[in-house]
Amino acid sequence: MRNKLVAGNWKMHGNLQDNSALLEALKIGLPKPENNARYAVCVPFPYLASAQATLNGTQIEWGAQNLSQHEKGAYTGEVSAQMLNDFGCTYAIVGHSERRMLYGESSQIVAEKYVAAQRAGMIPILCVGETLEQRDSDTTEQVIDEQLKAVITLAGVDSLENAVIAYEPVWAIGTGKTATPQQAQDIHLFIRKGISAQNSEIAENLTILYGGSVKANNAMELFAMPDIDGGLIGGASLIADDFIAICKAIQN
Ligand code: PEP
Repeated sequence: MRNKLVAGNWKMHGNLQDNSALLEALKIGLPKPENNARYAVCVPFPYLASAQATLNGTQIEWGAQNLSQHEKGAYTGEVSAQMLNDFGCTYAIVGHSERRMLYGESSQIVAEKYVAAQRAGMIPILCVGETLEQRDSDTTEQVIDEQLKAVITLAGVDSLENAVIAYEPVWAIGTGKTATPQQAQDIHLFIRKGISAQNSEIAENLTILYGGSVKANNAMELFAMPDIDGGLIGGASLIADDFIAICKAIQN
């Protein structure tokens, strides 16, 4: 049975006090996951120690939002996979559209980060997705193919056994515009079929998340689609009650 996952992406929000309170509220409020479901929060680097201290041994996993593709060295300001390991991270998000667009991360760099995360024993959450312009010009599938191909070329299709893919249409991130369940399902199926052509077992077991303005009131209908295995949640992951409601929606 395929794993399901709801992962929060806190982005660059909060402070020590608020973030500690959020972790405590999640620890108290989230039910024990059932039916192959998992919950996680991907927090800013400075709060990893607090996430580890608060969440260790609980029903909630944690991870980072980025990492360096390099193992170590003169890379001022960067954080390595090994460092994330020291703080017990299960996940590392790679290729979020904000990283691709604001920090110029190419699909090749994203693939190297994916490999770095796996080499350190973490599960990369690989984000793919098209801009509105690309959707309007009917190149969504081409864009996603290129983003996936870079990873598969570098790491091999078998690497997807220890990875999660998040389909995040850029036009739906932080905009309040959610893809319809059918729009999201169509792309999830496209991703799964593409991988299935290379390895059907890996494709069948692959967890594919949808991300883009998932809220407590639309999570259930998105998660009901056959190829949507959970969500990567931005804004709504900062509000304990909303994130808890979204996590509960994956249990059904
Ligand atoms: C995200 O940042 O990955 C995201 C999906 O954000 P939001 O839920 O706010 O659209």
